[in-house]
Amino acid sequence: MSWADKQTQIRSHAMYWGYLLLKLAAAALVSGSLLWFMNLFWLPRTPFLHLNRYQFIFDLGYTTLAGLWFLLSYGLCYLVFWDQRYRCRTCLRRLLMPVETGSWSHMLRLGRPQMEYICPFGHGTLNIEELQITGSVPPGWKEHGDIWSELFAAPAGKDEDR
Ligand SMILES: [Zn+2]
Repeated sequence: MSWADKQTQIRSHAMYWGYLLLKLAAAALVSGSLLWFMNLFWLPRTPFLHLNRYQFIFDLGYTTLAGLWFLLSYGLCYLVFWDQRYRCRTCLRRLLMPVETGSWSHMLRLGRPQMEYICPFGHGTLNIEELQITGSVPPGWKEHGDIWSELFAAPAGKDEDR
């Protein structure tokens, strides 16, 4: 692998994980702001990102809202990771065109049933196992070469054939 290839690989890794961190930070900001807004309606004043410990457990309304806030924050966090799973590892676009592959009745020939997604720019495909019996199976990402460069390659040797 050449140095330029390594550099692009490092850059796409940094972009992919940096995007996850950015989304997590945004989710934390949203849920922190919601908690801050909720705290405005109860005394005493509570600092940012803190539950009001004089009302939590003692006030039913506040405790219920805090529970809902927790569920919402958890959901946001889940969404962040769920979205990240279905993104291209090279260009961060959403993966498209889910195709069912494999078959239980022809398992030896076609493999186990999986859902296959592809990047619209052909950077790679993602295989997600349909049935996860042995714990959760991490999705398999398979990187493709530049499919367009092969298609639009200069027609070398065209004249030589004749
Ligand atoms: Zn891509």
